[in-house]
Amino acid sequence: MSDTITPMMAQYLEIKAQHSDALLFYRMGDFYELFFDDAIAAAAALDIALTKRGKHLGKDIAMCGVPQHAAESYLLTLIRKGFRVTIAEQMESPAEAKKRGSKSVVKREVVRLVTPGTLTEETLLDARRNNFLAAFAEVRDEAALAWLDVSTGAFTVAPCPAPMLSPILARITPSEVLVREGSEQPLRETVEEAGATLTALATSSFDSTGAETRLNAVFSTKSLEGFGTFTRPELSAMGALLDYIEITQKGRVPLIRPPQRETMGGSVQIDAATRRNLELTHALSGGRAGSLLNAIDRSITGAGARLLETRLCAPSTDLDLIIRRQSALQTFLKDHMIRRNTRDALRLVPDIERALNRLALDRGGPRDLAAIRNGLSAASSTAGLLDGIEPLAHARDALLGHDALITLLQNALIAEPPLLTRDGSFVATSYNKPLDEARTLRDEGRSVIASMQAEYQQLTGINSLKIKHNNVLGYFIETTATHAETMRSERFADTFIHRQTTANQVRFTTLALSDMETKILNAGGAARAAELEIFADLRADVLARSAPIGAAARALAEIDVTAALAELAAEQDWCRPKLDQSRAFKITAGRHPVVEDALRRTGQSFIANDCALTQDDARIWLLTGPNMAGKSTFLRQNAIIALLAQTGAWVPAESAHIGLVNQVFSRVGAADDLARGRSTFMVEMVETAAILNQAGDRALVILDEIGRGTATYDGLSIAWATLEHLHDSNRCRALFATHYHELTALTERLDALRNATVAVREHKGDVIFLHEVRPGAADRSYGIQVGRLAGLPPAVVARAREVLDVLEAGDREDGAKTKALIDDLPLFSTASQPSVKPQEISPSKLETHLTDISPDALTPREALDLVYELKALLKD
Ligand code: ATP
Repeated sequence: MSDTITPMMAQYLEIKAQHSDALLFYRMGDFYELFFDDAIAAAAALDIALTKRGKHLGKDIAMCGVPQHAAESYLLTLIRKGFRVTIAEQMESPAEAKKRGSKSVVKREVVRLVTPGTLTEETLLDARRNNFLAAFAEVRDEAALAWLDVSTGAFTVAPCPAPMLSPILARITPSEVLVREGSEQPLRETVEEAGATLTALATSSFDSTGAETRLNAVFSTKSLEGFGTFTRPELSAMGALLDYIEITQKGRVPLIRPPQRETMGGSVQIDAATRRNLELTHALSGGRAGSLLNAIDRSITGAGARLLETRLCAPSTDLDLIIRRQSALQTFLKDHMIRRNTRDALRLVPDIERALNRLALDRGGPRDLAAIRNGLSAASSTAGLLDGIEPLAHARDALLGHDALITLLQNALIAEPPLLTRDGSFVATSYNKPLDEARTLRDEGRSVIASMQAEYQQLTGINSLKIKHNNVLGYFIETTATHAETMRSERFADTFIHRQTTANQVRFTTLALSDMETKILNAGGAARAAELEIFADLRADVLARSAPIGAAARALAEIDVTAALAELAAEQDWCRPKLDQSRAFKITAGRHPVVEDALRRTGQSFIANDCALTQDDARIWLLTGPNMAGKSTFLRQNAIIALLAQTGAWVPAESAHIGLVNQVFSRVGAADDLARGRSTFMVEMVETAAILNQAGDRALVILDEIGRGTATYDGLSIAWATLEHLHDSNRCRALFATHYHELTALTERLDALRNATVAVREHKGDVIFLHEVRPGAADRSYGIQVGRLAGLPPAVVARAREVLDVLEAGDREDGAKTKALIDDLPLFSTASQPSVKPQEISPSKLETHLTDISPDALTPREALDLVYELKALLKD
């Protein structure tokens, strides 16, 4: 049967066999075609037509295809849907293949494996977010994680004991994580929970000795010492990343920056649940709207937005660094003209890093060169604005020194070049003489020929002489037979060469004309080739300076973030927090930026609140208060203020004094996690356990209604014990919100526990929320009043009040009595049998009357009468 396989299909199957885990985009002319199961999967995923092409082993071959020029958007859809795609390109033209033999198939090679973690195309990436590829390596008892953004070259490695994997992944949110073959099972859940695709690589990719060789090759070094000392697992993780780049990019190497080694504790430890809970980068509903990042991001450039996210996700614990960032921010805050001008200059800055990396991977085009040109020129004007500003001096220096390259690119490129080299016409006129000539010939070929015709007419005196063109002869000079003699005369013997004689005409050519013809024919090709050569030269010039260009790009991002945070601080009237090594946590008039924003949109104002935790006598605040009073908001705003402060930003408060925090934990009781197959309460306990086991004395812990997911007494007991443990063992700063008012009594026994409550006022049975946090304990939760506000049926509200009264009375007398009372069931038995069955209620006279009315048929007078009637019925 194998003789039924066409040579092309044989080639297809061979390539496919080597890349069985990815869809194969097989280039055929202007299309990428997919066959067999790939076609079926892709047609469904892309919602495109599935067709057939020939037969294989007696069966129809399923096929679908996407046009090459639109392939990126299809790729994006496939990658988002979790596919990987192998791209096999034609490496020669069909004509070249034919030359090798009439049955030869066009040579095809895999040029790239497209995976979520290795994208570089602008259209495939979110401009304002990094796209990290990570690798997790374990060597004996140690483990490390390395991560790389192929689109920008940012490369980081950190020790990562297995329990830390989840928090680190939650922080960097990679799109793909590489693990060693065989270790998928225990890691899959953690990786997928972080929203990444898991890719298993052969053990050899993780070999740490091979890794050193690979790293040295990429950085052209003999030893890695210059970058720091790396552990075996760190080398292994970095090596796996490089090997995967090799596999997916087929030998092309992106610009990778020397690895930054993160030490444990360099940034605030924030686990996945805390990030989710505080809605740092994503709102609980999933999107970016409603997140803290979204509320504070005033950055202008994509690179600035990426840096802000990186910083917010990993606030620093390095006091000097934070203070340096603060000083830089201060200068932008003080001088709003500098701030405005800098931000205006930044509006002209394109994504330099990504353009640079596309060029490095040989995937770039003229527009990427223009991005470098525009970016560097905006960089040098930005530098001019920052003259003499000391805290920004290092960033400013990186912006300068690119003049020669800027001038070169300015001279070489047109103002707005096309995306791809193959579009042509991107090199500026007068940059390159041979190119200008080629273009003149190409574009003005006809007029050149016309002027030659005039020249020959003049030379021979034959006015009827014409230069014509056909496919056989190309360009030729034509005269009538009468004039042919003149042309053939001795005088012109060296000029005109006879080509052809027809019935009435004689045709000649000249050396100049045939030269011209070749030139015109070649001009288009020559212009294209000259442009490609110029592009290659410019690309090489740019790549030769990739390090300083990258440094300028990063400096611009830093300036952008700093100016953006200053803009935010000015616009929202935030304050500079005082940070030190103490254990202070004193916030005056703090606010929650996201809640405040939301309230502002509905015309309400946010009530600012103080928070003062002190090491010895008020390390933990126990917050009680009614539902809906603002407890959760208060808890979160304080955690957010700490994180913003350590990012180097100003904070939403009148003043803030924070002793450095190294861990932030935030938990809300009874959050559902059905997807992971854990009961609500189990999740709550697992998360509480993590805090009690991990929080050190520099941690900031916020616990919101821990223990609420179980029976009242069980919950109360757990909350009680948790509070004691936080106080006595963890000795951390904490805010603890609860509805278990019994806990307030603990302040008598725990020295560093303080009671605080959110004030409300009661008015005619309703609660009025004051959203004000004060010292003291709440006596009740006003749950029933809140239920009433929420629209519980009046009967339920009334019944709930009765039940509460009995329960409270029972509690006051004796707990056992309450139990007896409940067992006695007078309350619940009636509760389960509604005294009035809704369906038995017959419509009132009022309702019957109203049902009979047709409003459109009423005159105004009748309507008025009707109102009197209805009122009368109501009295009845
Ligand atoms: P529950 O106990 O029911 O979970 P809670 O006490 O935690 O409630 P929050 O969820 O923090 O209450 O706040 C409820 C609502 O009250 C918020 O959505 C917000 O609209 C408003 N709110 C909270 N804090 C303030 C404040 N400081 N100023 C003004 N409005 C506030």
